[in-house]
Amino acid sequence: MEKITMSTPLVEMDGDEMAAILWKETKEKLVLPFVDLKVEYYDLSVRNRDETEDQVTLDSAEATKKYGVAVKCATITPNLERVQEYNLKKMWKSPNATIRAALDGTVFRAPILIKGIQPYVTSWKQPITLARHAYGDLYRAAEMRIEQPGKCELVFTDENGQETRQLIHQFKGPGVVSGSHNLDSSIRGFARCCMNYALDVKQNLLFSAKDTISKVYDRQFREIFKQVFMEEYMEDFNQADITYEYCLIDDAVSKAIKSEGGYVWACQNYDGDVMSDMLATAYGSAAMMTSVLVSPGGQYEYEAAHGTVRRHYYRYLEGGVAYTNPLAIIFAWGSALEKRGELDGNIQLADFGRRLRQVTVQTVERGIMTADLKKVTTIPNPHVVTGLRFIDLVQKQLMEEF
Ligand code: NAP
Ligand code: MG
Repeated sequence: MEKITMSTPLVEMDGDEMAAILWKETKEKLVLPFVDLKVEYYDLSVRNRDETEDQVTLDSAEATKKYGVAVKCATITPNLERVQEYNLKKMWKSPNATIRAALDGTVFRAPILIKGIQPYVTSWKQPITLARHAYGDLYRAAEMRIEQPGKCELVFTDENGQETRQLIHQFKGPGVVSGSHNLDSSIRGFARCCMNYALDVKQNLLFSAKDTISKVYDRQFREIFKQVFMEEYMEDFNQADITYEYCLIDDAVSKAIKSEGGYVWACQNYDGDVMSDMLATAYGSAAMMTSVLVSPGGQYEYEAAHGTVRRHYYRYLEGGVAYTNPLAIIFAWGSALEKRGELDGNIQLADFGRRLRQVTVQTVERGIMTADLKKVTTIPNPHVVTGLRFIDLVQKQLMEEF
């Protein structure tokens, strides 16, 4: 069997706990036997981030900028408990936040749809991909508790000291107030990411906000999306036979439930936070969500949407068994290899990445699955296996083909 060769390395970001165990197994059993794999390897396990004062995370983001495609394992974002558990020097920042900031990217989340694994919304035939703006709004808002009667105003002071004021509310008693902001540059970057992504997957793009109520703030989002579309993307969209549409958030929600799916739904920060949880749950299992960070510069970082699955890890350490679902991890590898192949004009590599995902789906369709899927499947007499065993069975299938 001749292995598929690569010209440009993939940036590999290793991670923690159960996800890291399935990660290694996926690489060794499902990639290395078939691909003469070239990687720039970065160990983002929490111990190594601690060791390198988190430099390794920055380096991995730089490598992604340089090479263009990365694949990332789930990593621990330390909280106080984790600092004690791993005896860390400090509470390091979330690697995902660091990488997102470095690449100025947008996160796209899409579920893996499989015949026999039924989403709760029965009309969905194709996945809805959710794109969440990751800057500003509620998440960077200044908030204030108002204790007594008084006047609350928005005040903007320009560089010459000139003030512009607007009344928020004349308080007659106690209350609360919040000041949000966003930036044209960030919204524009978000719009470009979404449009590039829609072109990439050849699906219609929908952007939702509430500009009927928020006539300046949300209106600005709508205007920027429209402008970016008209000036930079309309021709490409026409050629790809896809559409861009603005939609009120209320309509977008009801459309999501009534539609057959198969489109990209761009959301403002808060809407995206809430709606991605709704979509993930409605599709049956958190372990079936894929995630890709796309930068305006056209860099891609693929990962599973789930975390390090700590609970399973400790069970695994005790008895060596875990029914952890490796699908999203296998998909991350498959999609990253496919994208690398596409960018390099390496058809064999792109085909292999796609085939890896297909064989994985077919394995589940044959009734072989981890315990989480057993709860939501309509396939009769499913055969429940551990995550590691599942990977073995996918490998067996791939071996037969190659
Ligand atoms: P988690 O790792 O996603 O796991 C939460 C629960 O979801 C699991 O206990 C399990 O439920 C279920 N689950 C998740 N993935 C699964 C899979 N592949 N197969 C089967 N079941 C799966 O979230 P967490 O426990 O809240 O977080 C653990 C660590 O992950 C944290 O340190 C956090 O910082 C990190 N994290 C990292 C990322 C990332 O790197 N992208 C994202 C989120 C969280 P049952 O136990 O009921 O089976
Ligand atoms: Mg949320």
